[in-house]
Amino acid sequence: MTLHKLTAHEAHELLIKKEVSSVELIQAVLDRIDAVEGRVKAFVSITRDEALAKAKEVDARIKAGEAIGPLAGVPMVLKDNMCTKGIKTTCSSKILHNFVPPYNATVVEKLAAAGAVVVGKANLDEFAMGSSTENSGFFATRNPWNTEAVPGGSSGGSAASVAAGEAIYSLGSDTGGSIRQPASFCGVVGLKPTYGYVSRYGLIAFASSLDQIGPFTKDVRDSAQVMNVIAGHDPKDSTSAPVEVPDFTKFLTGDIKGLKIGIPKEYFVDGMEPGVEAAVKGAIAKLQELGAVVEECSLPHTEYALPVYYLIAPAEASSNLARYDGVRYGYRHEEAEDIISMYKKTRSEGFGAEVKRRIMLGTYALSSGYYDAYYLKALKVRTLIKDDFDKAFEKFDVLLSPTAPSTAFRFGEKADNPIQMYLSDIFTMSVNLAGIPGISIPCGFSNGMPVGLQLMGKAFDEGTLFRVAHAFEQSSDYHQARANL
Ligand code: GLN
Repeated sequence: MTLHKLTAHEAHELLIKKEVSSVELIQAVLDRIDAVEGRVKAFVSITRDEALAKAKEVDARIKAGEAIGPLAGVPMVLKDNMCTKGIKTTCSSKILHNFVPPYNATVVEKLAAAGAVVVGKANLDEFAMGSSTENSGFFATRNPWNTEAVPGGSSGGSAASVAAGEAIYSLGSDTGGSIRQPASFCGVVGLKPTYGYVSRYGLIAFASSLDQIGPFTKDVRDSAQVMNVIAGHDPKDSTSAPVEVPDFTKFLTGDIKGLKIGIPKEYFVDGMEPGVEAAVKGAIAKLQELGAVVEECSLPHTEYALPVYYLIAPAEASSNLARYDGVRYGYRHEEAEDIISMYKKTRSEGFGAEVKRRIMLGTYALSSGYYDAYYLKALKVRTLIKDDFDKAFEKFDVLLSPTAPSTAFRFGEKADNPIQMYLSDIFTMSVNLAGIPGISIPCGFSNGMPVGLQLMGKAFDEGTLFRVAHAFEQSSDYHQARANL
């Protein structure tokens, strides 16, 4: 039995039947990390001792006859922008290279209470700004399907670790596509929940009105199970929604007869990789066979999503990142003559090029004289983008598109061209601007690399996304394909 290949629900079955222990599971994943991490480079830190200690606790509970939840004893990975008490949390930035949080993010608390075992912290584009992990302040992560290709980003380490069998599942964060695009590139399932469903407390902020935490998993059932644990109201996050959390696995019925799926025509653009278009069209045909009613629709303001995102996200980032001043925590330039030059040198040396670009873009968009023309205008167009979705959802249960216009690209291919890099999130950004949920699931291959299909849903209707995603998954075997490392 190859334990690192299991899903969380498969691992759980073995644990409760006492056919395997949590320590064995963790050890199998740690062995896998030893075997492939030199090629994948998904981790900023590996927490072996903590993981084995936690696994022993879970094993003791099982031995004592206690009932355990579906994630207990199962190894997982956190994106390194989620605070872990006593464990370095870097955001893959030199400015936080030595930051050890004194508290846990709410998702970390919830996972710990569910018995989850954290085996490490995953690499990302610095402060989650990027689409390839090439912007990490430390090193780039590689795609397990082809180590010459990027894993996507910004949650590239989280996606690659699951695809490589270095974790059974992981958490990432998604501000404009950072869960769905790497999920698509690495052939795993990635969910960006509705804004406000999962607490952002302890998630190091990039753009606070867009950021959401969500799971990377090997299948849809695991995604639903992770959401069962991490979703829900949190008084520590003022934007957390006071809503009930259903048991998301109840939606995995396999039945989608009569369900209405809209295909936004703006999401099938010239220049899309032909293999991506073919895989997505194949998936649409499969969903029709399963009884879904599919029709074209329009989201007319789609073309403004990129400019609107690149005003709002940098504006919020420039304000959120003002706190890294070398005074309270993180990197500090030690030899400055006075406080102003200390700030200047700390920030010049601590931040990478993309983060500086965003701070400048955002500061400009918010500055007096430009605020109305750029930032305020962007907020108004954001409302039009959301209205497009509201109208579409009057008629459709879910909307469907490719997750990204291409499969994983090569290192360096877009690194010197920010606009080209920004375009790789063209199909995912609108979902964040509208605050709705989106899921990427594997739907085929193009030139040997995985293709992702995106389903977009009504706010707080993750259940329907899971239902459609699961029905498709059951009718295909793409989710069972594993990278051959
Ligand atoms: N790639 C987009 C950006 O660079 C989205 C990143 C994200 O979702 N965190 O901003």
